[in-house]
Amino acid sequence: MRHNFGAGPCILPQEVFKQASAAVLDFKDGLSILEISHRSPEFDGVVEETVKLVKELLNVPSGYSVLLLQGGASLQFSMVPMNLLPQDGTAAYLDTGVWATKALKEVKFFGKANVVASSKDSNYTFIPKDYVIPEDSAYFHYTSNNTIYGTELFELPVTKVPVVCDMSSDIMSREIDVTKYDLIYAGAQKNIGPAGLTLVIVKDEILGKTGRAIPSMLDYKSHVDAGSMYNTPPVFSIYTAMLNLRWLKSKGGVAEMEKENIAKANALYKEIDRNTLFKGTCAVEDRSRMNICFVMEDPELEKPFAKYADENGFEGLKGHRSVGGFRASMYNALPITSVHALIDLMQSFEEKHKK
Ligand SMILES: *Cc1c(COP(=O)(O)O)cnc(C)c1O
Repeated sequence: MRHNFGAGPCILPQEVFKQASAAVLDFKDGLSILEISHRSPEFDGVVEETVKLVKELLNVPSGYSVLLLQGGASLQFSMVPMNLLPQDGTAAYLDTGVWATKALKEVKFFGKANVVASSKDSNYTFIPKDYVIPEDSAYFHYTSNNTIYGTELFELPVTKVPVVCDMSSDIMSREIDVTKYDLIYAGAQKNIGPAGLTLVIVKDEILGKTGRAIPSMLDYKSHVDAGSMYNTPPVFSIYTAMLNLRWLKSKGGVAEMEKENIAKANALYKEIDRNTLFKGTCAVEDRSRMNICFVMEDPELEKPFAKYADENGFEGLKGHRSVGGFRASMYNALPITSVHALIDLMQSFEEKHKK
């Protein structure tokens, strides 16, 4: 079996793949999960359990709705300003990478954006810290984990302004205090389940205040009122996400995952810092636990290492084109044994290339 360090869609537990494939053949009375009505009581139960697991695993308090939507995190880039930003309002954005920039790009259709800080000039190798969020902002938007650059924001800035967060690549990887957020969104394919499902957690009281008419499918309120069943939901993605969340709960939940993710990240960063051939790309204090970026001291060795990794059963280690080098994505389902295998690989490569 290959060690899958891909950034997304990414590894899920083997037992989830097995259970999901069994349901494709026989979900209930010989019928496939792919052919039953989304309005059937059985599928109602799947939606109900998925929402319940999200609430339980993240401690979502009352007054928030958990929505199972489509369109990816990318549609949220538009839905957020459409639903939260009045036409004459200004939203504050923290620019920490490509995804933050793409989110920012959609704001102009609905109002004004104010970039409170950016690390673009240093190719996003760190998270800006000293910035002011104007108190009259309609909301503050940031990306908690920058999947491409390997930086992660652990300390939420203190602000009275509603906070919106793109948590696509670190949701469920560590404990968060949902009460500090007004809207959280995440494409499922990085830590929740397969592609096709987008998770949104929204504080009900912030909706319906822009004075704007919103098409039904793009209005959070339609989905809140319909319990995520306004139209046919992504049935199979939701079912598989539910299986994965069950797995997560059985492993001890988010707190237990966080411990493991810290152990996995520490082990790999330690090797990157020790190994004479490799170096990290980001400010140490902003290093992501989910996506670990590293390059080689001698760029000439990058191709040979990529080949060596491929031959030894490693998948998805190629860095994003805007950073180069390598990226080890280590979501919840990646076992620590795969991290140790990668460390062994880096060490044996070092042995071979010692001068
Ligand atoms: C992958 C990713 C996205 C894009 O998600 P889609 O579901 O493909 O639209 C957005 N934000 C972050 C942080 C991501 O990692």
